[in-house]
Amino acid sequence: MIDTVIVNAKIVTPRDIVFGAIAIDGGRIELIGPEWQMPKSREVIDAKERFVIPGIVDPHVHYGLTPAPGGSFAEACKRDWKPDAIGAAFGGITTVMPMLMSAGSYVPVTKELIGWANENSATDFALTVIVHKQQHRDDMQELFDSGVTSFKHFFNAFQAEEGEQMQLAPVDESGLFRSLEKIRDLGAPAIAMVHAEDCGLYSAFIARQRAKGRDGLKAWNDARPPFTESVRIELGARLAYEARAPLYFVHLSNQESIETVQRYKARGARLAAEAVIHTLTVSCEQEEEVGIWAKFVPPLRPWSEIHNMWRGIRGGVIDCIATDHCTYMLEDKTLGQDKHRGSIWEIPPGISNVQEHLLPVLWTDGVLTGRISLNELVHLTAENAARLFGLYPRKGAIIAGADADLVIVDDTTWHVIDDKFYHGKDTRFSIYMGRRVTGRPHLTMLRGKTILKDGRYVGSFEDGKHVEARLGQFSARGLADSTAVAE
Ligand SMILES: [Zn+2]
Repeated sequence: MIDTVIVNAKIVTPRDIVFGAIAIDGGRIELIGPEWQMPKSREVIDAKERFVIPGIVDPHVHYGLTPAPGGSFAEACKRDWKPDAIGAAFGGITTVMPMLMSAGSYVPVTKELIGWANENSATDFALTVIVHKQQHRDDMQELFDSGVTSFKHFFNAFQAEEGEQMQLAPVDESGLFRSLEKIRDLGAPAIAMVHAEDCGLYSAFIARQRAKGRDGLKAWNDARPPFTESVRIELGARLAYEARAPLYFVHLSNQESIETVQRYKARGARLAAEAVIHTLTVSCEQEEEVGIWAKFVPPLRPWSEIHNMWRGIRGGVIDCIATDHCTYMLEDKTLGQDKHRGSIWEIPPGISNVQEHLLPVLWTDGVLTGRISLNELVHLTAENAARLFGLYPRKGAIIAGADADLVIVDDTTWHVIDDKFYHGKDTRFSIYMGRRVTGRPHLTMLRGKTILKDGRYVGSFEDGKHVEARLGQFSARGLADSTAVAE
């Protein structure tokens, strides 16, 4: 007798959608097939002809951006992680990859957070560390050995005031190149993540916009224009090509960056690219609706660039869609004002609750509009991230042997997003307020255990476990195979 069988399911496998059943035992998928082939089980879940997709893998998450009393990053991270991972479960996200910030060595803080989160996380997790000092490069081998294999760089993004607020030093060309060489030598699944923006350039544009007395989302877009991103994408891609190292660009936002990544992929560079959900679905031309809550880096772009981004997805240049979730309280984000007051130059970039609205917004704006198929949604939100970050085939696909991280999607009920929609740390704000969406999880399962059902969280804080990135022989669709690079 096995643990669970899910019957009457439209199962979204990597290639097809098949109608049938999924057998689950010991937290893993045993078998996918017609119901009559299923072994006897203690529990039967009737999917009632709903779609079943793999649990989402979100490789871009920030917990702990605002300081905790006492100032330690680990404490701030724990404070946000505990409530917001429940929001992730409501959003069908079963693996999160928080990014850690530290001025000192990451060895103690990764140990501390893995130990803590093994008893306090609603979802499984892997960690990324933000590299901005030589010591962080020196620690890479030790981190790699403990299963932490992704290394994020702010490639000349953030300096002066911005950097000081975040206690980050920007990484210049030689710093990124030294990291890339190290990452290449570590071998798969080690991978660089890069936020590409040129702070030397955009600082001048910000000063100019402010001197003109401008404010708002369009001014913010003009203050960090697309080319201040794409020049750094070009240089980062070139460095990855020369170092023969894998590099994942976070949050691409414009056509020139897409073309650059496409060109270097065609040359055999080991590149991957990400889009974040708000860059695909909200424009800087919508300030009336979304207000200055929608301040992001890079900024939201005009509609023309949003169309380019969807083309980049359809063309296979963009491999993953992530959240770039940033935990904030309403007060942090508005500085005591409402979404239409306060200044774009003063409020912090990023927004909360993204992990919870990612799936329904993507379902509504991506799948129902015909921009992507359901199989593509699964590649973009689960399989490719799992492959790129060494978690596949445990995570990212409904295949025999994989962890039973599954989401039964409710695509018949419609919701209007308001503050009752959310379940994270602060539910009071969203850039999607008033939007109608469908595609919320009806049930979320983590390694065979139901953690969300019928709109209720039924998991516990001991459910989530650290997933060591180990398996590096796979690459994403669109990521050039390492053998294609001349050695
Ligand atoms: Zn981010």
